Amino acid sequence: MKDKQKINDNIIIMIIIITYLIINSTLGTANFTVLHNNIESNFFCFKKSNYIMYKSPHIIKKEDSKKEPKKKPELENKEKKSKVVEVGIPKTKKKAIALTFDDGPNNNYTLQILDILKENEVTATFFVLGNKVNKYANVIKRIHIEGHEIGNHSYNHPSFRKINNNNINKQIEMTNTNIYNIIGESPSLVRPPYGQITKKIASSITYPLILWSIDPKDWNSTPVLKMQNNIIDNLKDGRIIILHDSYKNTVILVKNIIPQIKALGYDIVAVSELFSRNDVKLETGNIYREIKK
Ligand code: ZN
Repeated sequence: MKDKQKINDNIIIMIIIITYLIINSTLGTANFTVLHNNIESNFFCFKKSNYIMYKSPHIIKKEDSKKEPKKKPELENKEKKSKVVEVGIPKTKKKAIALTFDDGPNNNYTLQILDILKENEVTATFFVLGNKVNKYANVIKRIHIEGHEIGNHSYNHPSFRKINNNNINKQIEMTNTNIYNIIGESPSLVRPPYGQITKKIASSITYPLILWSIDPKDWNSTPVLKMQNNIIDNLKDGRIIILHDSYKNTVILVKNIIPQIKALGYDIVAVSELFSRNDVKLETGNIYREIKK
């Protein structure tokens, strides 16, 4: 009896299980869909978490910054400025003077001076004459290739006080065109012949006008030692020395004076660099003799 009862119980249990399976199978699709969605969303989460884990710091920063409240523009500007200071190369505090040579080029003294500059690893500015540029095109190329600056010293050296504005501009532009045709760049600085310029004339010239603050007068057969003393006595941070690559004594002077200037803690640079490293912007029509400290 007991066995029969057990069999009946088992049959009832079987019926219940079968019924459950039948009902479950009709709902199976829906369950599968739910399950599928779960898998998909989990997979998506997995992919997303991977993306978060491996994305670049740049992307993280971008997303993080989105979450941050908007900053005021003044604050953003301040932050930008401080970042520049952090990553930028510290500005040199070293004293500097500019060495300039007028009236060239030529294939004698200019070349000797270029050799001395190269040996001493210093740069200079050569204010050249337009009517010599084509004749000594190779010297112009060498000045440029060796990292020196080429300035404009007019076409044939007239006093700007004795010619009209139209002719001044012709003198400058003819020279710049000749230089451009050789090196593909036009000078941005002008030195008026004899330094003869007035504020009124300067205001009509569309270039900065560069004079000087140390003149050892190499054009006047001055003895080398006297010129050396003149330079050393007048040496000051931000000053501009005028020489001429036209005399034997100038070559000797340059050879002697460069190591002396360097030994006194000065860098010797081209005019543009002297002004740029002091954050002085050269403006057209202005006359410059030095950087006042
Ligand atoms: Zn000159």
